[in-house]
Amino acid sequence: MSQKFDVVVIGAGPGGYVAAIRAAQLGLKTACIEKYQGKDGKTALGGTCLNVGCIPSKALLDSSYKFHEAQESFNVHGISTGDVKMDVPTMVARKDQIVKNLTGGVSALLKANGVTVFEGHGKLLAGKQVEVTKLDGSTETLAAENVILASGSKPVDIPPAPVDQKVIVDSTGALDFQTVPARLGVIGAGVIGLELGSVWSRLGAEVTVIEAMDKFLPAADEQISKEAFKVLSKQGLKILLGARLTASEIKGEEVTVSFTTAEGEQQLTFDKLIVAVGRRPVTTDLLASDSGVDMDERGFIFVNDQCATSVPGVYAIGDVVRGAMLAHKASEEGVMVAERIAGHKSQMNYDLIPSVIYTHPEIAWVGKTEQALKAEGVEINVGTFPFAASGRAMAANDTAGLVKVIADAKTDRVLGVHVMGPAAAELVQQGAIGMEFGTSAEDLGMMVFSHPTMSEALHEAALAVNGHAIHIANRKKR
Ligand code: FAD
Ligand code: AMP
Repeated sequence: MSQKFDVVVIGAGPGGYVAAIRAAQLGLKTACIEKYQGKDGKTALGGTCLNVGCIPSKALLDSSYKFHEAQESFNVHGISTGDVKMDVPTMVARKDQIVKNLTGGVSALLKANGVTVFEGHGKLLAGKQVEVTKLDGSTETLAAENVILASGSKPVDIPPAPVDQKVIVDSTGALDFQTVPARLGVIGAGVIGLELGSVWSRLGAEVTVIEAMDKFLPAADEQISKEAFKVLSKQGLKILLGARLTASEIKGEEVTVSFTTAEGEQQLTFDKLIVAVGRRPVTTDLLASDSGVDMDERGFIFVNDQCATSVPGVYAIGDVVRGAMLAHKASEEGVMVAERIAGHKSQMNYDLIPSVIYTHPEIAWVGKTEQALKAEGVEINVGTFPFAASGRAMAANDTAGLVKVIADAKTDRVLGVHVMGPAAAELVQQGAIGMEFGTSAEDLGMMVFSHPTMSEALHEAALAVNGHAIHIANRKKR
């Protein structure tokens, strides 16, 4: 007799484990299946995000930024440090410990909520049966009223640069270098390429980013992406746009890459090459041929706005379905689906998913860009405020970047908040909260903001939308 569950979740990433916890909270008998094994060979929950994504990358970004500050900026404050050194294995071990604490925490949370965890590979069979192939090779079939597919994504491989995890690595390999490569190549100027490039650049690597597109960060607001290009280039990241990788050759400990630009074919030699050209959905052996679940033309599981697949009672969430490949998007889809299974009418607001690039300064946004709104023919008012005019940013010696608030010219409703600067992710979240409640620029302008804070830059940018900024000359006076 197979064990029966109200909900079986396949995958324990930020989509799957959050869905499982919420389902269990709602009184549903829930199981969660995970196959990933961590560095110690034991099953590790938390998915890409906790094991090889969001958290480890931020741990290295924070360590490398402290090193950079100690080396480059402490003198501004009158602090002399002498010769600052970075012990890379200690930095990486700290990152591993954080991962271990968090993945252990997820395990404890699932247990505390009464979720049954199965260690192994999950596969959806016909009739909402789920087969688990355990680590010892044995199989067990679970019967489910509802199934949530949350199998996530993995790095895209490209034929010109096959990953060997020694010289040519993907994002996972780039989190584990034991020494700083003198010459580091990064293929792809997306979020992951820029974050990992920044880590190793701060530690002394000479970093070249090779990006096929002519435009830098095309999803961001153009004013912000232009500013970001300048600031990151000044920091030492050499970003080659319109440069498409065509081949690579490993010779001993180094790799020579060939790429084409408007000037023709070029070559560069690196000690390590990070391939960060995007991620693709994981569906290998996830669905039996008669499961009835449809995929779209790009290999994502096809779902509607409520994450329902083509089979009633089977849902899919997170990186394995359409939309932003972000942990918070996966988690909120997990909550929505668990609540809908429990009979609630939960929905998700896909228009207000914040995006963040954790470089320094951070780049973050929510809502629409100026170029997108103009293309839609929406009349807008724009307010900006530079951190160079913020007292708090000056005190922190962190004045690069700006806040930009975009509002509908007729209604004053805020349609986009775009920030490059200190604490950009946190500031954009304030914008997102306001936008969720339909804030106008005037509403934000009327609020009392603590002084001195970075948040005041958001306040001033909101005031600037209608020409009322106090601490900067307004372009338009209304
Ligand atoms: P995943 O986290 O990929 O989890 C899926 C899980 O399912 C995995 O553990 C996998 O082993 C398991 N699985 C797959 N198939 C099966 C099966 N058949 N049986 C059992 N288990 C299975 N996002 C952010 O929001 N912020 C960030 O700062 C950020 N930084 C990132 C940095 C890097 C370097 C990378 C690579 C990604 C980053 N992301 C970030 C993206 C984020 O990690 C993903 O969007 C998020 O993990 C997706 O969650 P998920 O639950 O859909 O899938
Ligand atoms: P993202 O999808 O945000 O992780 O970004 C991946 C980036 O890699 C995109 O900006 C792509 O244009 C870029 N890219 C993909 N293939 C290549 C290639 N062969 N050479 C250079 N850049 C590439």
